[in-house]
Amino acid sequence: MTINIKEICEKDRNTVLHPFTQLKDFASGKLGDPTIVETGKGIRIQDAFGNHLIDGFAGLYCVNVGYGRTEVAEAISRQAYRLAYYHSYAAHTTDQLAILSDRLVKMAPGKMSKVFYGMSGSDANETQAKLVWYYNNLRGKPTKKKIISRERGYHGCSVVSGSMTGMSFYHDHMDLPLPHIVHTGAPHHYWGANANETEREFAARRAAELDQLIEELGPDNVGAFIAEPVLGTGGITPPPEGYWEAIQAVLKKHDVLLIADEVITGFGRTGSMFGSQHYGIEPDLITVAKGLTSAYFPLSASIVGEKVYNVLEEGADRVGAFSHGYTYSGHPIGAAAANAVLDIVEKEDLPGNAKEVGAYFQKQLKEKFAQLPIVGEVRGVGLMGAIEFVGDREGKKRFDPALKVGARISKAARDRGLIARAMPHGDILGFAPPLVTTKDEVDEIVAIAESAVKSVMDELIVAGQKI
Ligand SMILES: *Cc1c(COP(=O)(O)O)cnc(C)c1O
Repeated sequence: MTINIKEICEKDRNTVLHPFTQLKDFASGKLGDPTIVETGKGIRIQDAFGNHLIDGFAGLYCVNVGYGRTEVAEAISRQAYRLAYYHSYAAHTTDQLAILSDRLVKMAPGKMSKVFYGMSGSDANETQAKLVWYYNNLRGKPTKKKIISRERGYHGCSVVSGSMTGMSFYHDHMDLPLPHIVHTGAPHHYWGANANETEREFAARRAAELDQLIEELGPDNVGAFIAEPVLGTGGITPPPEGYWEAIQAVLKKHDVLLIADEVITGFGRTGSMFGSQHYGIEPDLITVAKGLTSAYFPLSASIVGEKVYNVLEEGADRVGAFSHGYTYSGHPIGAAAANAVLDIVEKEDLPGNAKEVGAYFQKQLKEKFAQLPIVGEVRGVGLMGAIEFVGDREGKKRFDPALKVGARISKAARDRGLIARAMPHGDILGFAPPLVTTKDEVDEIVAIAESAVKSVMDELIVAGQKI
């Protein structure tokens, strides 16, 4: 396809409201032209000028099966020709939807029962909140409604899910968070631990803080705790040792539901099919999106465990139909896309690849970066990892934010043909490549990242920065 690049840039600049873009700098041209992404194959995308970039972040940790998978495109096309749409209200369904739901209930961790569908991780978490409230209303516990999430957690950006998200820039100037949502401390040992506190001690302290918070709010007022098995957007941070065991004991004690937000960790990213399996988590409700269709179609799911579902079913005679649903809940093209993607995930054992290639990736990151004078921590699990840069390694102090070290390193990588994300919340370079990434491709990613980090390190030295 030939496009007029100048014309597309102009139209875009004039009419698209881009997420996470400085609006004025974009409109004025100071940020330069938008990147027009044209095609993708495997772990690479290609822009309108024919430049190839390695996508070290799988889009937004979502294109797990890689780009250009014709079997998924064909499944989508087949379904679109056969039946592009029907709703799932009032007991209507499609074969693809029933097959997908059966699959999800069987493969998901814990005792799952039913699947409710949406279009995004945000709306799926919105649904989870309503399910928690509905569940406790039907149980005759009308005050048990507050939902606790964690600082640095990411759960979406709609009104409730954005409130669950524990990052102030999602709240500021947007009248969030809602009063129903309360935050507790992040499970990040590097920044959160006291001097000489071990991971286990730190995890126990976080659990004790949660216990105390629930006591303060009143256990009769707390409905659920929502968390990602591994913090994603908050910095790609695996939990400290013993964290999930300690947290779950507190939740059980207070009859508080556990919502596992598996939007990133679902379908293989950690090296296990679900993050919950990786960390011994037994959730009551599970949220999936991103990897469910590898982003070939917008589809999310709120997977409902037996414990919650049984209460909903028991209450049905009293309250009538389950009054929640989107026009596109259970969209047949989404279901067909998800089935085709899950076929690949299973046939190619992508969790197994994430485990094996992921272990190699983590080792390379540690070897190449952990000892650099500007690196505070290298962390990750499976095929998700991060390098956190600090101005003072010994004193554990961040760089002056005005130096924009993280953004500069991300840009230097980009200039060398690698997309690695500058994460918010510090100078953090994040990686989450497609789960089909090979060891050779890991070598390419790590080599480019190394060159990018060293170039910015040299700039800092030349500028007289003490490192
Ligand atoms: C991306 C993400 C969401 C939100 O998903 P959207 O599809 O962007 O609405 C929710 N939870 C987690 C853990 C995510 O990474």
